[in-house]
Order: sequence, then structure tokens, then C-alpha cells
Amino acid sequence: MTDTTRLPQALQQRIEQLAQQAPAGPILSPEQTAALKSDIKALLKEKNAQLVAHYYVDAELQALAEETGGVVADSLEMANFGAKSDADILVVCGVRFMGETAKLLSPGKKVLMPTLEATCSLDLSCPPDAFRAFIDEHPDHTVVVYANTSAEVKALADWTVTSGNALHIVRHLKAQGERIIWAPDRHLGHWIEKETGVDMLVWQGHCVVHDEFMAYELEKLRAEHPEAKVLVHPESPENVIALADVVGSTRVLIEAVRTLPDRQFIVATDYGIFYKMQQVAPDKELIVAPTSSRERQCSSCAHCPWMAMNSLVNLKRVLETEDQEIVIDPELRERAVQPIERMLAFSREQGLVK
Ligand code: SF4
Repeated sequence: MTDTTRLPQALQQRIEQLAQQAPAGPILSPEQTAALKSDIKALLKEKNAQLVAHYYVDAELQALAEETGGVVADSLEMANFGAKSDADILVVCGVRFMGETAKLLSPGKKVLMPTLEATCSLDLSCPPDAFRAFIDEHPDHTVVVYANTSAEVKALADWTVTSGNALHIVRHLKAQGERIIWAPDRHLGHWIEKETGVDMLVWQGHCVVHDEFMAYELEKLRAEHPEAKVLVHPESPENVIALADVVGSTRVLIEAVRTLPDRQFIVATDYGIFYKMQQVAPDKELIVAPTSSRERQCSSCAHCPWMAMNSLVNLKRVLETEDQEIVIDPELRERAVQPIERMLAFSREQGLVK
């Protein structure tokens, strides 16, 4: 394992500051919620628009996406759904790189987001100029970047991957004798390196949500719930992954809750995923894995501060104003779409997406 980079302290502090300042959506009365939903449904119909929502946004947005013919999915399925949709407008409820990916794959559609301010600590941790310099220092490596990156960073890569297909793609590259530059999530990178044995240089980004899961506290919680299975997303620290019964992407974790015979699960990923887990397995008990010390404050508390910026209020507003639009320069698009299309073609070949 080779770690050759370290995030500058100023960048790290800026990311923490932005996470703490991200404004969560407003608290609404049942009457306000019902009125907003009804208005949004009418606007979606009038504008031939579809909602493309991530598992980590609030349950109301996920439910609305399902009720109106949109989709609730991980970033790979979101991109794939948007590209196949015949809507004129895609409204991506998630974070900015998801909107950009939708636009890269659907250049002829208008792509809106409830707020363009919803970013991601992984995206922020990989500035394009610094990453380009790093690649230039290692010209004999294949560049593999996680979906959680800007279009500029994707344009520098050979492959884009998601947590759902990363192991498959990296195993494929290893079989061809490739050495890899991996960015930006260090925990996911180390897990993939360990699982595949590939020769990998790992960028030092991290997710502000998953990085806070604590192994010591998780062990204590598991002792209190000895029957529970522990489900962990691989953006979590290595010592948390080591305690898992199941490690995998959001889709793998949802499937584990649905198919395993156990009744109780401790879940180490954003608790927005509980909406879908409870939908597929309503009789099972889900427990949020501990973040930070249970006696101390955490900055994310198992819910992404930027996903939480998506709300019914700004969703309705963007459908009215169409002002939060993702725009990508055509020349940048041409380069950035290539690693995504490579990923999608491989994923289709392997039966990982429909
Ligand atoms: S949960 Fe983590 S990886 Fe996902 S969008 Fe939020 S900061 Fe990024």
C-alpha cells in the first residue's frame, strides 16, 4: 500500500467548515408538506420533469420520486436512469457531482438541482490542478476516480467507478497488469487495494459522514445487541470495516437487510438509507452505527450535511424558476464523459446495471 499524498491542512479545515455551515432544509407542518408535494407533482407533470433521488436524501423526497415515476438509487443507477429517461428535465436530488454526471450522460436534457450549493467532501478534497500534478508525477499509472468527483477531475481519469462496481473494475485492471492511481476516498481505496491486491497510489480524501463511524463505540453497541448484523459502507475507516458482517455499496447493504434472515442490523452509512431498507424489509430493526463518541458532538451524525440541503421547499422553487441548472462546457463534457461511458459499458457487460 502506498500513500503518497496528504491533504493540505487549510483544505481540510475548509471542508469541515463548509460541512458545518451547510443549512438543513426547513421543518414543515403536515399541511405545508402536503401542499408542497401537491404543487411539485403538478409542476413535474406540466414540465415533463422527473426526479432522480439518492438514497441519502430525506425520506419525503425519496417517496415523492417514487410516487411520480422517478427513481431512488445509488449514483450509478441514477446516472443510468437519467440517460434512459424520456423526460425533458431531470431534477437531481442529491449532491452536485450527481447532477454533473446526469448532465454528462444527458447533454440534451435540462438538469436542475434543488440547490447547486450541495457539494461533497470527497469532491472538495480533490482539486483538479493538484490532482493533475499528481497524475503527471506518475505517468505509468491508470487513473481510476470514484463517482464523487467533479467533471474536471473525471476528465483527467481513465475510469470512473462507484462503490457498486469498483471491485469488479479494479480486478479487471489488475488482471491486465495495470498499476492504479485511486482518488479521492482513502478508506474505499485501501479496502479495494486489500480486496484485490492491486498496486495502488491512494489520494487522501474522506467522506465527512463515514469517516466519523467509530470502531470502539461500534464494538460496545454490538455487545449491547449481540443478535444484530453489522453492515458497513467501505467509505468507513478500516477498523470499522473490520467489524462488519457485510461490507458493500448502498445497494449491497439494502439487499443484505432484505435477504438475510436476521431481525436486527447496525448500519454504518448515512441513515437516509433507512427509508429504502424499511420499505424492502418493514419488520426489521435498524440501528444507526455510532459516530464520534456517544458523549461528544459529531459534525455529521450519520447524515450528510449536503444531502440534507435538498428539501421540498427548494425543490418546488427550482421547478418554478429553473435557475439551479447544471451547465457543462461541451469540450469538458467530451473528455469527462469518456471514463463514465467506459464504466457503464463494463457494468452492462457484467450485468451490474440494466
Ligand atoms: S455522504 Fe459523504 S460521500 Fe456522500 S455526498 Fe455526503 S460527503 Fe459526499
